[in-house]
Amino acid sequence: MRAGAEVLSYEDEGGRVHARLANGERVAGRALIGADGLRSRIRAQLIGDGAPRVSGHSTYRSVIETAKMPEDLRWNAATLWAGPKCHIVHYPLSGWKVFNLVATYHNDAPEAVSGKPVEREEVRRGFLHIHERPRRIIDHGEGWRLWVLCDRDPVEGWNRGRVSLLGDAAHPMLQYFAQGAAMALEDAVALAGSFARSLGDVEGALAAYAEARLLRTARVQLMSRAIGEHIYHPAGVHAALRNAIMSAKSDEEWYEILAWLYGEPPED
Ligand SMILES: Cc1cc2nc3c(=O)[nH]c(=O)nc-3n(C[C@H](O)[C@H](O)[C@H](O)COP(=O)(O)OP(=O)(O)OC[C@H]3O[C@@H](n4cnc5c(N)ncnc54)[C@H](O)[C@@H]3O)c2cc1C
Repeated sequence: MRAGAEVLSYEDEGGRVHARLANGERVAGRALIGADGLRSRIRAQLIGDGAPRVSGHSTYRSVIETAKMPEDLRWNAATLWAGPKCHIVHYPLSGWKVFNLVATYHNDAPEAVSGKPVEREEVRRGFLHIHERPRRIIDHGEGWRLWVLCDRDPVEGWNRGRVSLLGDAAHPMLQYFAQGAAMALEDAVALAGSFARSLGDVEGALAAYAEARLLRTARVQLMSRAIGEHIYHPAGVHAALRNAIMSAKSDEEWYEILAWLYGEPPED
């Protein structure tokens, strides 16, 4: 385990892989898993499909001390307020000490941003058109930070030889299913299982891992986009249709619809 070691590139030499570090070192191993996130260097070398897609959706995050959260909204539930081109999510954290607050606005933001501090006034501007009850939550947030969300289209070819990808490096997704980190963890379980079964066949283990994970993660990538467009952000007739479809189903039916994601253990 080496902290603070930046990997620049790799060389797959058949029986071994060498990672080249920024300090000039070459580190040898039996395999290389690029778990280096949205702007993965390993992906750039392996797939070479350029920069991630900028979604144009701006997400502002803050936490509110529970005492400052409007009393009538201190709900013990993940709560989502959906409005035209925007939505707000909140839920309690850390044993009710704080509420996590995530406010998203589809404003066609042109460039990727990751955690930039912003003024509350900027956050307010995106939510002037929504009902006063969710809007006033924003007034209580402090230390707001901005992300402009990115994702990619699902692709094959995450692994070649002894090199593979995991997590956002393999399948970056919008956070609308709240599944990016969850999928990375599932990948890790699947990868460990694949190696355990492989009897030392590294290339076979990586190929089986990628095959086991491709369609499930692709589904979450594409469905996350669809949720943003069709469930969280529509207006007018589109929103009325959403309401009609959603309210016509029982809780049990919704659990059934989402069972593909939450209801079955992933293969390992
Ligand atoms: C606003 C927002 C809300 C989210 N909400 C949720 C949620 O509710 N639930 C959920 O499951 N997910 C959520 N996610 C997604 C989640 O944060 C990511 O999917 C997850 O962090 C991906 O994990 P990862 O390990 O693949 O990549 P990362 O967490 O990005 O980790 C990559 C690591 O690699 C390191 N690295 C990068 N390049 C190099 C290099 N060249 N050499 C060495 N190291 C390198 C980085 O320093 C970093 O430590 C959200 C994301 C955003 C932006």
